[in-house]
Amino acid sequence: MSNTDFALAVEDLTVSFDGFKAIDTLTLYVDRNELRVIIGPNGAGKTTLLDLICGKTKASSGSIKFNNTELTGMAEHKRVRLGIGRKFQTPSIYENLTVFQNLEVSYPSGRSVFGALAFQCTDKIKAAVQAVAEDIFLADKLGTEAGLLSHGQKQWLEIGMLLMQEPELLMLDEPIAGMSSRERELTAELLQRISNNRAVIVIEHDMDFVAQIAHKVTVMHQGKILAEGPMDQVQADPKVIDVYLGH
Ligand code: ADP
Ligand code: MG
Repeated sequence: MSNTDFALAVEDLTVSFDGFKAIDTLTLYVDRNELRVIIGPNGAGKTTLLDLICGKTKASSGSIKFNNTELTGMAEHKRVRLGIGRKFQTPSIYENLTVFQNLEVSYPSGRSVFGALAFQCTDKIKAAVQAVAEDIFLADKLGTEAGLLSHGQKQWLEIGMLLMQEPELLMLDEPIAGMSSRERELTAELLQRISNNRAVIVIEHDMDFVAQIAHKVTVMHQGKILAEGPMDQVQADPKVIDVYLGH
């Protein structure tokens, strides 16, 4: 496979904070329709890597290509428009709006630039909201105020808000933190389903969950990649056991 066939190609990426390299000459490729899980000890640089890909943090050197378009130097909102969605650890939803309204406001405004014609899109937006609500297990909660949802349902709603924009790359930082075991099961199902037609990167600690969803696992340590491959191979790697799984 040539480097141009990947959804995401990160090459020799480095970011220094006052001389400390949080990401250190890191190279990583993610396929289209791949669900990649990134694991590693606290401080390994996992969140910083997502910050660099979405544009929240500026790279010191190296390259990040999304569908062969160079991202480094591109503003965060432009990356969103190219199809990159990022879910942060704490859900950022509108607590006093309903589930329906939260999804509705997430419909990309760029698609209804002709303000006067916007009303003609209403049915289309409603259909999109309905489809996403079904995806995220909240179809019977459309009229519910988001603040009244369980913690897990709030996480799903935020994933849904990202899905409204039909991202081609979706990145999620510890999406099952604080979820019940039933919610975790459903989230595994959801992530598998949404990776059918987009690349998904998930940062996660729960190894049972990782084993359930990962196509491939990348293990980070001190800003570098320590190991990468199928879960069983990575789990059996002495280097990985030493710095991460052994603890
Ligand atoms: P992880 O998500 O793997 O736990 P992080 O990416 O959050 O790790 O952090 C990696 C390292 O980079 C940590 O040592 C952290 O303190 C440092 N770091 C992250 N962001 C910044 C920043 N904006 N300024 C300074 N140091 C940072
Ligand atoms: Mg983190």
